[in-house]
Amino acid sequence: MNGRLEGKAALVTGSGSGIGRATALLFAREGARVIVSDVNASGAEETVAAIQKKGGEARFIRCDVSKSAEVEALIRGAVETFGRLDCAVNNAGISGVMGPTGDYPEDAWDRVIATNLTGVWLCMKQEIQQMLKQGGGSIANTASVAGLVGFTMAPAYTAAKHGVVGLTKTAALEYAKANIRINAVCPGLVRTPMITDTTSKNPQIEQALIADEPVGRMADPEEIAEALVWLCSGASSFITGAALPVDGGVVAR
Ligand code: NAD
Repeated sequence: MNGRLEGKAALVTGSGSGIGRATALLFAREGARVIVSDVNASGAEETVAAIQKKGGEARFIRCDVSKSAEVEALIRGAVETFGRLDCAVNNAGISGVMGPTGDYPEDAWDRVIATNLTGVWLCMKQEIQQMLKQGGGSIANTASVAGLVGFTMAPAYTAAKHGVVGLTKTAALEYAKANIRINAVCPGLVRTPMITDTTSKNPQIEQALIADEPVGRMADPEEIAEALVWLCSGASSFITGAALPVDGGVVAR
């Protein structure tokens, strides 16, 4: 254990799978006590078990981030469990269906915005209240390269992720003097169920996606977790309001 987050109390939403799970595991490895939160209880319990197996401390609190009352209960539960909240990673998200802007279904738009944008804001709202009470903290949001550049056929996802980047910058300015740092990570293509649920059924899609990647491969979720943990640690103490691409060069193109 390196102990970069020794003694810290952390929360990771969407940590029942993919990037969130890898982040919760890395937080625990670095010495943090971790609240694992997700709508998917079985995935989250697997994450908790994996942390405990390695001697770490973790507890599952179920929460749908798009529901204000559930988010309030999540933050209350996190603070009751570990006494405070030093680090929060707002990561829960969905991809939504693909379709062009002029023909995108309204219910699909509402679902993506509710989870990927409103969900991040609802979590930040409660986390900030707690961090103000305790005199500081660090928040890292999982945005996307789709929060920095446009992606065809994904209007709701792209709008939500641009929204997360804007919200990150605004809140970072509002709370900079209150010792709360707020940043976003913008991953490129990451090998998680969000992608592999499609690519495993169609290797041609996977090949096409990879062919488009400057580094010629997808990221592993652990590579995104490293950035999220770093942004929550003291090692990034002068960084706030940043939207950090972790994308193998995609937005450099
Ligand atoms: P994933 O599907 O493996 O994990 C997402 C997790 O979020 C799941 O466990 C899911 O149950 C949970 N979740 C979904 N809706 C929720 C809700 N309303 N409340 C609480 N939890 C909810 O996908 P992932 O790739 O690990 O995605 C994590 C984040 O990374 C997302 O915000 C996603 O948009 C972002 N991202 C992913 C990629 C990629 O290529 N995989 C790229 C850029 C950004």
